[in-house]
Amino acid sequence: MASTTPDLLITGGDVVTMNPRREVLIGGAVAIAGERILAVGATGELRARWPGAAELDATDCVVTPGLVNAHQHLTGDPLVRACIPDDITSQEAVHRWAVPIHRAHTAEDEELAALLACVENLRNGVTTIVEAGTVAHPERVAAAMTRSGVRGTVGVWGWDVEGVPHSAPAAEVLERLSEVIESYPAGGLVEGRVTLVGHGLASDELLAGAAELARRTGAGMTMHMSPTRADVDHYLARSGRRPLLHLARLGVLGPHLLLAHGVWLDDAEVDALLDSGTAVAYCPWAYLRLGQGVTRAGRHAEIFTRSGRIALGCDAANAGDAADILRTAALAVGLAKDTAVDPTTIGAPEGLEMATIRGAEAIGMADRIGSIEEGKLADLVVHDATGPQWTPRGDVAHQLIWSSDGRNVRDVLVGGRHVVRRGRCTTVDEHALRERAITSSAGLLRRAGIAVRHRWPHLRSH
Ligand SMILES: [Zn+2]
Repeated sequence: MASTTPDLLITGGDVVTMNPRREVLIGGAVAIAGERILAVGATGELRARWPGAAELDATDCVVTPGLVNAHQHLTGDPLVRACIPDDITSQEAVHRWAVPIHRAHTAEDEELAALLACVENLRNGVTTIVEAGTVAHPERVAAAMTRSGVRGTVGVWGWDVEGVPHSAPAAEVLERLSEVIESYPAGGLVEGRVTLVGHGLASDELLAGAAELARRTGAGMTMHMSPTRADVDHYLARSGRRPLLHLARLGVLGPHLLLAHGVWLDDAEVDALLDSGTAVAYCPWAYLRLGQGVTRAGRHAEIFTRSGRIALGCDAANAGDAADILRTAALAVGLAKDTAVDPTTIGAPEGLEMATIRGAEAIGMADRIGSIEEGKLADLVVHDATGPQWTPRGDVAHQLIWSSDGRNVRDVLVGGRHVVRRGRCTTVDEHALRERAITSSAGLLRRAGIAVRHRWPHLRSH
C-alpha cells in the first residue's frame, strides 16, 4: 500500500462488506487512501488509529460496495428514452427505431448519451458498467465515462454478415477491437473489452477470432445471445446446433466470455455454459418490457445455484429501462421464487451478491471490486436509511433489495473519488447536461425522420 494515512474515513454507517464471511459492521467505518480501501473496522477503532482524519458521516446510512451493471447500452437509447413504444414487435423496434437512431447518431451524440447514462447509473449506485456493444465511437464513450467518473469497459461495434449496414470483414472488425484494447489497457478506470453485438450477426471466423483476441489479451469478451427464440432458430438453421453448442464447438465459450441474456437455453446449453465457466449478464426487466419469455424459459436461478457466474444488467433505456441494479436484483430473485413456486430458492442476500461480489466475479473484476475489503478499490455507496422504507430497520439485505432502490443513494465514491454527493453528481453539471440532452434528442429524432407517437392525446395546455 503506497499510503498509510487515509484521505477519508466513512464513519458510523452499517457497512455491508460482502467479504467472504458476508460480515455487516453495525456503526462501522471504511478508511480510504488514494483509490483504495486502507482499512475496514469499527468507527471508534479507525478514529483512534487516525485521529483528525477527514470524515464523511454515514450515521443512519448503509454502506455497500459499488454496484455492478454488467450490460448497459450507453449510446442510442439514452437520447430517445421512453420514446420507443412498448407494444411493437422486436423487428419493428429494430428497423423503425434502432437502425435509424444509430444511423443519425453523431460522435457528439454518442458522448452525450453516454454521459447521461453514466450519470443515471452513478446516481443509482452503479460504479462499474460493462458497455453492451453498440458503440461506434469508443473514444467518445470512454471520454464520457472518464468524465463522469464511472468505472467500466468499452468496445466498438462490429459485424461481418452480408446485407447489414456497416458490415465489415472479420479481420477489420477484429483490428478495430484490438485498437480499443490497446488504447484502454487493464487497470485503468475504463478498460477495453472484446465486444460483439452477437446474435446472428457474426460469422464463425469473427466469433472464433474474437474469443482468441480476448484470451490472448486477457481483455474479456461480451456479446448478446438468446434473449428470445430467434437466435436458437438462426443457429439451428445455420449449423444444425443450438447457439451455445455451436459456440462451444468453435471454442468461443470460456471464463473470458460474458454472455448477455442466455434466456432460451436447453439442458445441454446450460451444462456447456457451466462446464466452460462462461458468465451471464442477466437483464430481467428487458425480458419483461420486451415480452421475451424469461418466465417461460429463463434458467438463471438454476445457473446461479449451480455455482454459475451471473451478474445483473439494465440493458437499454427502452428495454429495461431504469439503470437501477437494486431494482433489477429484486426482480431477479422475485422471478426465481415465483417461477419455481418456491419461496425457499434464492432471495435478497443472493440478489445483493449478484449486484456486488458475484457480479464483479462474473465480469472478471472481483480481484479489484465487489466487496469492501482492505486493498480493494474504494468503490462505495452510502444509502440514506432514514426514509419510511427504512423504518423500522430490519435485515439489511432484505431492506436494500425488497424495500429500497437507487433512490436512496446519497454518496458514491469510485476509486476514492467522490462522484455523487447528497444525491447529485459532482463531476458533471447536471442542469447543463439535461438542457443539452433535450436539444440533442430533438435533433436526433428529426434527422432519423421519426415522430414520437403517443397513445393518448397530448394537448398543449399552457
Ligand atoms: Zn443489449
